[in-house]
Amino acid sequence: MTGPHMSPEEFRRHGHAVVDWIADYWSSLDELPVRSRVAPGEIAAALPDTMPETGEEFDAVLADVQRMILPGITHWQHPRFFAYFPANSSPAAVLGDLLSSGIGAQGMLWATSPALTEVEQVVLDWLAEGLGLPEAFRSGGPGGGVIQDTASTATFTALLAALHRTTDGAARAEGVTSLLRVYGSEEAHSSLHKAVMMSGLGERALHTVPVDPRTRRMDVAALARALEEDVAAGLRPVMVQAAVGTTSTGAVDDVAAIGPLALAHGAWLHVDAAWAGTAAVCPEHRWINEGVAEHADSYVTNPHKWLLTTFDCSAFWVRDSAALRGALSLLPEYLRTPAAESGAVTDLRDWHPQLGRRFRALKLFAVLRTYGRRGLAEHIRAGVAGADRFASLVRSDERFELVTEPVLGLVVFRLRAGDEETRRVMEELNDSGEAYLSHTTVDGSTAMRVAVGGWRTTPEDVERTWRALTSLVPADPR
Ligand SMILES: *Cc1c(COP(=O)(O)O)cnc(C)c1O
Repeated sequence: MTGPHMSPEEFRRHGHAVVDWIADYWSSLDELPVRSRVAPGEIAAALPDTMPETGEEFDAVLADVQRMILPGITHWQHPRFFAYFPANSSPAAVLGDLLSSGIGAQGMLWATSPALTEVEQVVLDWLAEGLGLPEAFRSGGPGGGVIQDTASTATFTALLAALHRTTDGAARAEGVTSLLRVYGSEEAHSSLHKAVMMSGLGERALHTVPVDPRTRRMDVAALARALEEDVAAGLRPVMVQAAVGTTSTGAVDDVAAIGPLALAHGAWLHVDAAWAGTAAVCPEHRWINEGVAEHADSYVTNPHKWLLTTFDCSAFWVRDSAALRGALSLLPEYLRTPAAESGAVTDLRDWHPQLGRRFRALKLFAVLRTYGRRGLAEHIRAGVAGADRFASLVRSDERFELVTEPVLGLVVFRLRAGDEETRRVMEELNDSGEAYLSHTTVDGSTAMRVAVGGWRTTPEDVERTWRALTSLVPADPR
């Protein structure tokens, strides 16, 4: 090899060093503070102001990752990372991703690398089957799946399809009117709000539906009233989003009750199961998807959260792709291919906002192959068991209380002493580096969230986090 490029032999040597580095990193995580302790600007200040004029050795790059960059990393793969939701990686996913990078293909069209499209369709068919999702989501019929970067993009895409269907294509041709409405609960993820903003509908098009104060599930009677009142006022329901596992408390909306209301008003039903959905790989957790088979027009769940697939990998399915393609397909001359014109293949570029697409399916393929249904279920069960244990510890201590009933791997709780004390204890725990939790507000008061589900988390990590947390709380006066 001549010129500035690494030779295959050099790549082999540095590649081995990188894999060693990653393996050592995973083994050393337990010793590192979970949350990064750097101050704003510290990492940027440690880096040179300009790129080097002549290329350096890769060894220097790796050394700087260790020395200058690692301090600015919050360790999401740490066994005591319990904040937000897990963003699990796994050895298989990393290797699959590396293969994808090495192959370096761009799959915007079937014809630009047939395997990219076909492997993606096959793994999403496997996953749909593995999660007990309806036949209608499988490829080969009107419906099918596509991997999006994130659930946010999937929800935005669902909204574009919904707009196309409910306006008979007018949204695409003429833009949106001020009469269109989108529904989600107060606990819906902010990505719904953002999708409404991005679509040009404007924020006022989002009709926020109240939740049951205890369960935090969408109040279905309130949705019914909202739909009826809006229609009576001359407005047009476009999409209803049901949340299967809200971000704040894990609440699971009643899709079976929401579905018929959406249908009755001609609205698209999108189900956001970004975190919880993958738990359905365990038959005992399939209840979360009750009503999806009958009613959902689209569904999203993130293998990049709980299902061991390195970010980004968001699985999105539609019952019928016609509206999606109607909303998003364009065929400039330079993208015309005989394969697409023959109608025998799918061009997934028509299934999401961007054109280019990398081979994300390969990391999911590697995960599904190497874990198998049983390995995946075992992983989900370990997370649920960890959360059950944590919840029982909360129940057994008078100083604490559960805010909502735990759902799957998520426990939401607080100190009885109130918001300020809840925040203080959480911040001190996070500052200690021992574990990392995040917070939410439920009905106006502050709560801590422990989301168990990390692939390196053991039962002892749950115990240890509880001991660290309780050591920060004054003894119960009674
Ligand atoms: C995490 C989450 C999202 C957003 O996920 P991204 O993939 O980061 O966009 C949306 N909805 C719910 C319920 C989530 O938990």
